[in-house]
Amino acid sequence: MNDSSSRALLEKLIGFATVSRDSNLEMIAFIRDFLEQHGVESKLFYNDARTKANLFATIGPHDRGGIVLSGHTDVVPVDGQAWTVEPFRMSEHEGRLYGRGAADMKGFIASVLAAVPHFAGRDLRLPVHLAFSYDEEVGCLGVRPMLAELEKRPHKPLLCLIGEPTELKPVLGHKGKLAMRCHVKGAACHSAYAPYGVNAIQYAARLINRLEVIGEQLAHPQHHDERFDPPYSTVQTGVIRGGRALNIVPEECEFDFEVRALPGFDANEVAHHLQDYAEAELVPRMRAVKPDTGIRLQALSAYPGLATSPESEAARLLAQLCGSNEFGTVAFGTEGGLFDQAGIPAVVCGPGSMDQGHKPDEFVTVEQLNACDAMLKRLADHLAQ
Ligand SMILES: [Zn+2]
Repeated sequence: MNDSSSRALLEKLIGFATVSRDSNLEMIAFIRDFLEQHGVESKLFYNDARTKANLFATIGPHDRGGIVLSGHTDVVPVDGQAWTVEPFRMSEHEGRLYGRGAADMKGFIASVLAAVPHFAGRDLRLPVHLAFSYDEEVGCLGVRPMLAELEKRPHKPLLCLIGEPTELKPVLGHKGKLAMRCHVKGAACHSAYAPYGVNAIQYAARLINRLEVIGEQLAHPQHHDERFDPPYSTVQTGVIRGGRALNIVPEECEFDFEVRALPGFDANEVAHHLQDYAEAELVPRMRAVKPDTGIRLQALSAYPGLATSPESEAARLLAQLCGSNEFGTVAFGTEGGLFDQAGIPAVVCGPGSMDQGHKPDEFVTVEQLNACDAMLKRLADHLAQ
C-alpha cells in the first residue's frame, strides 16, 4: 500500500489527537506538506492565540468558482468513554478502521487528500478547493474567518460539499441550533422569611415552563416540515444550577437551553419571546421585593440550518456524484448552513455513519472509504470535462 492511499492517510490523521480543546497545528502542517508535495499551495487562517488553524487550498484555475470540499479537523474527546482499542492509533478489524474521528470526519479528509494527485494531475476546467476547519465540534466556530474571506471573492465557489458521515447518501438539509444560558439573580434570606427574599430557582422554573409552552406551539402541525425528524423546531432545557442549602432562599440560578430550528425559522425568536415574558411578567415582581434582581440571557453558540433545494444545480451535481437522487436530511448540524449563508450552496455527503460518531470504538468501513475515493474520482472527471 502506498503512503497516499486513503487508508494510509487516515492512519496518519487519526494519530493526531486533535480534540477541539487542543491544537490542530501538527495535523495542519502534515496536510500542508502533503499538498506541497503535489504542487498545491495552502493558505492558513489562524485563531488569535495561533494554536489552531484552518487550511484552504485550490487546485485548478484560480479565476473561476469551482467546488469546495469541506471537513473539520477537530474531534470530540474520548474522556470517560470505554474504548476497547486505542482511540488515537488506527486499528483494523473485519473491514472496519477504528479510531477517534474515523467517521467524524477524518475518513473524508483522508479520502480527499488521496484524491489530490487525481485533481492535480488533470487539466481541470473548474477548480476544486479544500477547506479544512477547526473548532467545528464546539459550535462551528473556527470556519467563520475563512468563510468571511471566501464571501468576498469575485469568483465564489458554486457548491460546497460537506463530507460529514452520511454513508455517502445525498443530504440537503439539517436543522439550525441556538444554545443559550439564562441567569436569574434573586435575593437571599433565611428560608423562614422566604417572602422577603427573591427565589431565583422558582423564577428559573417559570422561565423553563415558558420554554415548554413555546415548544408546544412550535410543534403545532401547521409548522411541520416532514423532511426532518422530528418535523418541527424543538426547545430543550439541558442544564440547571442553583441553590446552596434548603434553609437559604437561593440568590442565583442559571440554566442552559437550546433551540433546534427548522431551516427558515429564526431561533432567536424563542429567546426574544422569553425575554419579553421575563420583562413583562417576572422582573417587575422580583424588583418589587428587591431592586437589584433580574434575568439575563446570554447566547452560547449558534449555527444556521440548511435546506438546499432539490431542484438546485448543487443538488443535481450531488445526485450525479453519489448516484442517487433520494435526498435526505440529517439530525446533526454541519458547517453547511454557514457556507449557505455566505452565498455558497452546500450539500452533505461523506463516508461512515454518525451512528459511530462521538462514540467509543468509532470506525469507518474500508468499503465506505473506497466508495468515497471513487466518488471523488467522478468529481475529478466532472471538473475536467
Ligand atoms: Zn463532524
